[in-house]
Amino acid sequence: MTPTSSTRPIDPMLEIRSLQKSYGQLNVLNGVDLKVAPREVLVIIGPSGSGKSTLLRCINHLEEPTGGQIYLEGELINDTGRSRKDFEKHINHIRCQVGMVFQQFNLFPHMTVLENVMEAPLLVLKKDKTTVRDNALELLGKVGLSDKTSAYPSMLSGGQQQRVAIARALAMEPKVMLFDEVTSALDPELVGDVLRVMEDLARDGMTMLVVTHEMGFAEKVGDRVIFMADGVVVEDASPQAMFSNPQERRTRQFLKEVL
Ligand code: ADP
Ligand code: MG
Repeated sequence: MTPTSSTRPIDPMLEIRSLQKSYGQLNVLNGVDLKVAPREVLVIIGPSGSGKSTLLRCINHLEEPTGGQIYLEGELINDTGRSRKDFEKHINHIRCQVGMVFQQFNLFPHMTVLENVMEAPLLVLKKDKTTVRDNALELLGKVGLSDKTSAYPSMLSGGQQQRVAIARALAMEPKVMLFDEVTSALDPELVGDVLRVMEDLARDGMTMLVVTHEMGFAEKVGDRVIFMADGVVVEDASPQAMFSNPQERRTRQFLKEVL
């Protein structure tokens, strides 16, 4: 949530310029421009196939953009001019700073909840085990799973697994968190707990990009909403303006169908 008391202009945490992504002949992102301020919660809505996941995946380097630039705290993070080896190191460095949670939780099935959360900081950040363990236990407390640290993923509900996935991403101490329809695969009664964890995170000041169909969450927690269609940002507004007074025909059409 963006602080309103600040008088100096805030440099963007994330800036995206003219981002393009094609798969062969298919142009999925057609020049996306976007700035996200520190502590801002940006909600991304739009029809299926409009490029929302591709946008997040480009930011996290799961996909390589075809054109355009992505800056994290002013640093260009998709510089393809580097040698392959340097670039791979660079990608790992970025992945540590940008956390992502997916619709499918992708937990390691053979590891306990605690081990899942400890794995990346131990292996990638090479932190000492006691620090990593203390931090993991604290994060599992935050997502309401202190009593499940020794459980295996298969013993948990979808909502619990998704909260482990969030804790696991947070364990890398990212600067930005990306959420891609993280409640879409959950039974309705499990959605609330996951959304509450995300709301707490927003309140703690995490910079977040959230692709979701949960319009209630968008309205309550979002600082800004963008509507994407055909690989571009069609409309960019406050939640109130987006939902009560959308300016673009395509936004109105979409909202009529989902609200
Ligand atoms: P959204 O998340 O908004 O539903 P996506 O970003 O997943 O949209 O997909 C946008 C378009 O890109 C779709 O037409 C999809 O089929 C296509 N697409 C996504 N990933 C790939 C891929 N790896 N190869 C080819 N086409 C893809
Ligand atoms: Mg998607």
